[in-house]
Amino acid sequence: MAATSDPDARGINDGIGRLMAAERLRFARDNPKSAALAEETAKHWLHGVPLHWMSDWGTPFPHFIEAARGARMTDVDGHALIDFCLGDTGAMFGHAPEPVIRTLAAQATRGFTTMLPTADAARVGELLSERFGLPFWQVTSTASDANRAVLRWARGITGRAKVLVFNGCYHGAVEDSYVALEHGQPRNRPGLVGEVRDVTATSSVIEFNDVAALERALAAGDVACVLAEPVMTNCSMVLPEPGYHAALRALTRATGTLLVIDETHTISSGPAGYTGTHTLEPDFFVLGKPIAGGVPAAVYGWSAAVDQRLRAFLTDREPGYSGIGTTLSGSALQLALIRTVFEAVMTEAAYAKAMPQAERLEQKLAAAIVGAGLPWHMVRVGLRAEIVPSATRPRNGSEAGMIDHDGGLAALQVFALNRGVVITPFHGMLLVSPETSAADIDHAVSVLSDGMLAVKAALGA
Ligand code: PMP
Repeated sequence: MAATSDPDARGINDGIGRLMAAERLRFARDNPKSAALAEETAKHWLHGVPLHWMSDWGTPFPHFIEAARGARMTDVDGHALIDFCLGDTGAMFGHAPEPVIRTLAAQATRGFTTMLPTADAARVGELLSERFGLPFWQVTSTASDANRAVLRWARGITGRAKVLVFNGCYHGAVEDSYVALEHGQPRNRPGLVGEVRDVTATSSVIEFNDVAALERALAAGDVACVLAEPVMTNCSMVLPEPGYHAALRALTRATGTLLVIDETHTISSGPAGYTGTHTLEPDFFVLGKPIAGGVPAAVYGWSAAVDQRLRAFLTDREPGYSGIGTTLSGSALQLALIRTVFEAVMTEAAYAKAMPQAERLEQKLAAAIVGAGLPWHMVRVGLRAEIVPSATRPRNGSEAGMIDHDGGLAALQVFALNRGVVITPFHGMLLVSPETSAADIDHAVSVLSDGMLAVKAALGA
């Protein structure tokens, strides 16, 4: 997700400020080709990058990548990098997997997009239904778009205007999800560019893990759907408390509210995501990012019961453009790649290979935190591990929002980058792919241990 992590703008102490400044100087010294490219790109791109988030890595200028393969990247200055960001999940099975390369090459001579289905659609529909247990599906080009489409369908078929999200959530560039609690009061999320609506008029926001608040929010029976990540992964990491998902399902059912589970990040849990691992029963299911090997594609699926309502709704609705869909979605290219990824990349075997490495990473980093004497902890959902710069586990978005004001994690991220270890900016996320070796993990742990000691020393300075 995007967040403002400009280290200069944070309330950081002098020691951390000096550590960050030293690491930024080191980056500038070690990356002359990136520096030269940044001068060129500044002439034509916002913040010198084709997507403005790409300048949000804590480095003094954008970091330019030459190539990415498996769990590695090489930058334009020739540094070899072990990648634990993996495109923030888009490449979670490794960059450019061999089967994806073969499919891309094969599809290159058959065309990419025709606005008509290919035979792969039959197989992909089967694969999705078998894997996630939902019978009906559509393809979009981003997870943001899949969430947007689902909100529309949910409002359409329930005839209810409101949607409910959790404080601190992120579901992509979905306008309806940009609400937050401030001192317990809902408001449009600060920083949102160009939003002219009062989003709080049709989006309710409550804290995660608060069953009583959920009961209150759904009681009037005017909420079309709850849009939820099963584990909140975009405000640090907030795990559901025991029984929370059961309560969420029971209360949504009791009030005729549809339950949308967004698995875009929690697909790290296992081959069928958190939904499969924990037998959740969503009405709608959303998954984007890695499903086409890094090429833009996302899917959303729905249950047989929802399908009945959806078809009835379509029969009765006023004719006209649905407002759902984008031209390049469901393309020949996307279908061919999704098929390949489900058949040959995102397999049980791939998860089985990567999971022990993720456990190893979590355990070793937890030990490194203790070794450095930092008041931090580790949390993990399958292949997705997170360094949380607080002694206690946040229970909800508000608690998560109150941590990391000292800049230590931001400094650690640049420290690691300067030593060939890429962790996700904005928060301390490390994703383990089937291509990530035990040696990669040991190297990362050693770099991050040194970094944590430097952060600890800086905090005490
Ligand atoms: N859902 C979740 C849970 C996400 O974390 C994200 C992106 N971080 C999205 C949806 C949106 O994905 P995209 O930016 O690819 O549209």
